[in-house]
Amino acid sequence: MSLLFIAAILGLIPAFIAQSKGRSFGAWWLYGALLFIVAIIHVLVIPSDSTTSINSSDSRSCPFCAEPIRRQAIKCKHCGSEVLPAPALQDEGDGTQISWRRLAALALAIIITGLIIHALKLD
Ligand SMILES: [Zn+2]
Repeated sequence: MSLLFIAAILGLIPAFIAQSKGRSFGAWWLYGALLFIVAIIHVLVIPSDSTTSINSSDSRSCPFCAEPIRRQAIKCKHCGSEVLPAPALQDEGDGTQISWRRLAALALAIIITGLIIHALKLD
């Protein structure tokens, strides 16, 4: 019973990392719960979903016509309106991904520490 609970908690770590890379949360949670060691290594080596990362980091919506335009654009190619370039947002996107990985690593460290304390108390 408690082993299943621990497996379910551990499965959340690869699930969160997978979600930050644009993958299915539920599938990776199940994978992580069943094969935690394999799943955590696997999720760290897989690349981010290319379509989501390109869309979020390389383009944005035009404020006038709402068509997708390049992030660095100063003039909309669809309606010809002048727009402000937004170079800082690209770094923010990358930073979010790194912080997700840090958060997952921190959660892993807390859980392992908790398990060790729990095991010592049982003895
Ligand atoms: Zn436009």
